[in-house]
Amino acid sequence: MSEPLFITMHERDNVAIVANEGGQPAGTVFPSGLTLVEKVPQAHKVALVDIPQGGEVLRYGVVIGRASKRIAAGSWVHERLLEMPAARSLDGLPIATAKPAAPQPLEGFTFEGYRNADGSVGTRNILAITQTVQCVAGVTDFAVQRIKAELLPKYPNVDDVVALEHGYGCGVAIDAPDAVIPIRTLRNISLNPNFGGEVMVVSLGCEKLQPERLMPPGTIPLVDERNVADVGDSAEAKLDVVCLQDEAHVGFMSMVDSILRQAEEHLERLNARQRETVPASELVVGVQCGGSDAFSGVTANPAVGFCTDLLVRAGATVMFSEVTEVRDGIDQLTARAATPEVAEAMIREMAWYDAYLDKGRVDRSANTTPGNKKGGLSNIVEKAMGSIVKSGSAPISGVVPPGEKARQRGLLYAATPASDFICGTLQLAAGMNLHVFTTGRGTPYGLAEVPVIKVATRSELARRWHDLMDINAGRIADGEASIEDIGWEMFRLMLDVASGRKKTWAEHWKLHNALVLFNPAPVT
Ligand code: CA
Repeated sequence: MSEPLFITMHERDNVAIVANEGGQPAGTVFPSGLTLVEKVPQAHKVALVDIPQGGEVLRYGVVIGRASKRIAAGSWVHERLLEMPAARSLDGLPIATAKPAAPQPLEGFTFEGYRNADGSVGTRNILAITQTVQCVAGVTDFAVQRIKAELLPKYPNVDDVVALEHGYGCGVAIDAPDAVIPIRTLRNISLNPNFGGEVMVVSLGCEKLQPERLMPPGTIPLVDERNVADVGDSAEAKLDVVCLQDEAHVGFMSMVDSILRQAEEHLERLNARQRETVPASELVVGVQCGGSDAFSGVTANPAVGFCTDLLVRAGATVMFSEVTEVRDGIDQLTARAATPEVAEAMIREMAWYDAYLDKGRVDRSANTTPGNKKGGLSNIVEKAMGSIVKSGSAPISGVVPPGEKARQRGLLYAATPASDFICGTLQLAAGMNLHVFTTGRGTPYGLAEVPVIKVATRSELARRWHDLMDINAGRIADGEASIEDIGWEMFRLMLDVASGRKKTWAEHWKLHNALVLFNPAPVT
């Protein structure tokens, strides 16, 4: 790309970002006649007009800050020139006022998935081993290595065996009100559609989070008659627990043997599952961004937003998250709520998070990273405006509190921290069966539990990380593809990945980030 190019997001904007790789030097004249008075790096902002001291700096048609001193047209508008506005109050917000038109149904798209007893659909067929407490992680991992080597070859329909390792379970104030969040997160992850309703628990024995507390009666679906619980004639699955402190265990190998023996029961049932053709409406997609730059909100996230609209039109479920990255757009979100109840639920989650941050004596501005700023994002307001576009334009039909399961279709706001691994962990608990992740700075993020499709915001990143990025949305900035083109490419890739016809790069290399539970309650 040789022609100097800047990208403006909204007609009101008085700044734009420089699109060219390597940025542009002082003296560059853009086709509009604007001349750079200094070098502006790629993805960073240039002033389109003179902005007086204290004047509003507008991007996405929104005030992202006020000029701390006069900024001449053609100057580099970096974060030190911006004073960030205060967060929008949660009072007096527009409630369900936007009334977006009902999305046009999109029919005829299917994928090959694993239908579960509870009606959900998996995109992978995985044996997950739940753990009540971190203490058992080493033993479980040892057993999982043996299961992979000795048992998995006998069950070719099973994709993988995954230990659901985490840091919770003991040494925690388990009766604190907020402890419900990590506990229900772990419970609902164990019930993720990709695990076929097979729940197998490894417990230590003396931990605070006892297996019955983690999986109370009635939570495990009945997969078939072989695992009915011995409680009268109720159609309830028995809780399969290997307890390491059980007196029957003599020596380490007897624990490992118990885990292998129990695993084989579940592997047999999982192996009998077959993919079948299901409508695209069975997708439950979690969208997220991480390692963002100023292109995130110009290329990759708008393409995700277009794809989100396609998915919602197809009847699927899409969750967008990351509280601190949508907090500054709360008025857009409450306006887009399908009902006043949804708007109120959103405000409740935001207020809870404001108080949570306040307790730590920070606010939403603690979100931005050095990499974000290097990538041209001056502050959280600008980052949020670019992040929120992942949600597309559909009405928001529900809110999922952290660790809860999504209980309806359509576009949902799943309230989670923006931390990549905590957000991913909570979206897994919500029932995600496919994950889409955009990045501008680059992250090799991946999960063992669900395929992660990674989208690069810039062509330079897509070229350097050619065997880590699944889609190059940088072609939008290069003028080679439209937002719609990339959105459709993403939609079709999702159906291929969900069907197991294609693997993502993170799956290919087995890049598995740890599950990180969100625990706002005290530890002891
Ligand atoms: Ca994130």
